[in-house]
Amino acid sequence: MIEIQQLPNILLENSNYGIGDLDDGIIHIGTNFCKNHDIPLCNNCPIKDLCEGFLNKKELLDEYRT
Ligand code: SF4
Repeated sequence: MIEIQQLPNILLENSNYGIGDLDDGIIHIGTNFCKNHDIPLCNNCPIKDLCEGFLNKKELLDEYRT
């Protein structure tokens, strides 16, 4: 079993990035593309090809806010 707080370490395993880089990236996406806007700018978002909300579950965009 994997606990959710372990996910950042798993994502960063075997990379040259640290937890601060991941935090900076999430903040960048959140403030420039995602839920700080009334309508998220998904078509310009750098992680749109990985985003479950954009790809498969549009309802997530309405059900969750930062
Ligand atoms: S693609 Fe996903 S992460 Fe990017 S702005 Fe849209 S909802 Fe947010």
